[in-house]
Amino acid sequence: MPAQTDSVVIVGAGVVGLATAYFLGKAGVRSTVIERDSIGSHASGFAYGGLSAVSGTGVEPALESLAFDGMRLHRELGSSLEEQTGIDTGYGDKALLSLAFYENEAVAARAAVERQQRHEDYSVRWLDGPETRTLEPRISMEALGGVYVEGSTEVDPYRFNLALAQAAEKLGATIRHGSVTGLDRQGDRVVGVQIGDETFPCEHVVIAMGPWSAEAGDWLGFPVNVGPLKGQIIRLRTPGPPIECSLGWDGNYATTKPDGLVWAGTTEEEVGFDESPTLQARESITAALTKMMPSLENAELVRQTACLRPVTPDRLPVLGPAPGVEGVFMATGAERKGILLGPSMGRVTADIITTGTSDIPIHAFDPGRFAG
Ligand SMILES: Cc1cc2nc3c(=O)[nH]c(=O)nc-3n(C[C@H](O)[C@H](O)[C@H](O)COP(=O)(O)OP(=O)(O)OC[C@H]3O[C@@H](n4cnc5c(N)ncnc54)[C@H](O)[C@@H]3O)c2cc1C
Repeated sequence: MPAQTDSVVIVGAGVVGLATAYFLGKAGVRSTVIERDSIGSHASGFAYGGLSAVSGTGVEPALESLAFDGMRLHRELGSSLEEQTGIDTGYGDKALLSLAFYENEAVAARAAVERQQRHEDYSVRWLDGPETRTLEPRISMEALGGVYVEGSTEVDPYRFNLALAQAAEKLGATIRHGSVTGLDRQGDRVVGVQIGDETFPCEHVVIAMGPWSAEAGDWLGFPVNVGPLKGQIIRLRTPGPPIECSLGWDGNYATTKPDGLVWAGTTEEEVGFDESPTLQARESITAALTKMMPSLENAELVRQTACLRPVTPDRLPVLGPAPGVEGVFMATGAERKGILLGPSMGRVTADIITTGTSDIPIHAFDPGRFAG
């Protein structure tokens, strides 16, 4: 229902919740973001920050509009957030080189080039082994080649969250600490959220609780099939020049970030809500990194982080009005692409709240799709 209201509550100050507050603010609507930990304290603050609508783990056709909108919004926010807040979010170009070590990988990669080349914002080409090593001499002699993608970008996730939060506050949003434990309803309509013993009245609620979004299923009376998929990253001090592009292989990646460290990841672990870094992950990430660049074997570990991606069984986000409870919206489940998709998910949510419609097709993300 279209509404001009100042009483929107957003549950969760990850990238999706903060982007929603920012775009509501741009539309002249003030919101309150309620976060039980701190801004960007989970996946949104500890992601890798690679932004690409065509490569990495790839983008499902259903996700393309959202992903390209995410790329566009990141481009705009790359400069406007710094103007608004003085925070440098580390946004910039970052070409990707996805390596192939085995013949089957090379065949699949070459086939993907054709599909990726359809997008005019990107230049995509296959490089043979020697060409990859001309680009980055430390790449393993075992690499048969790789797909080189120009047009992708990157951001520092934590700084991006911080800048989004400050910009949203300048536009009238309030960010407060608290753990939302339920919804207050009058009939089929939400009229508030519960924060422990306190009731916080509002007309609209956005569930942007990341991998914890399933908790809201109990409040809403339908299954919210979003769960955690753990991923880890190590940061290393390495000798030699920076790695200029983002190297990838088999779901792993590595690049030199603006802090001068090589960030390398990652894992996909189904271990519930455990966010502790593990030795096993460190070893598997190091193995993948040294497969790509053997000379980094003895790099000095500076930091290891672990966090949880919000995933759904069909690996698509949950985005749009919640069924059965008027005034509640879901914005979660962005999985491995949440930093890329977050701004677009926030913009879409703000548009639906303020105008009742969205210019991005969201039927595939229907929050009710997991109900019997
Ligand atoms: C290792 C790793 C690398 C990644 N790299 C990339 C990448 O390169 N590019 C990319 O696009 N994506 C990447 N991602 C994915 C991306 O980080 C996530 O998809 C995204 O951060 C999810 O954002 P979110 O706002 O939905 O959830 P979160 O960041 O989890 O935020 C949800 C927030 O809600 C709060 N919350 C939950 N329940 C409540 C409650 N009841 N009351 C109050 N607050 C609550 C939580 O405390 C949390 O702060 C990566 C993820 C991982 C794990």
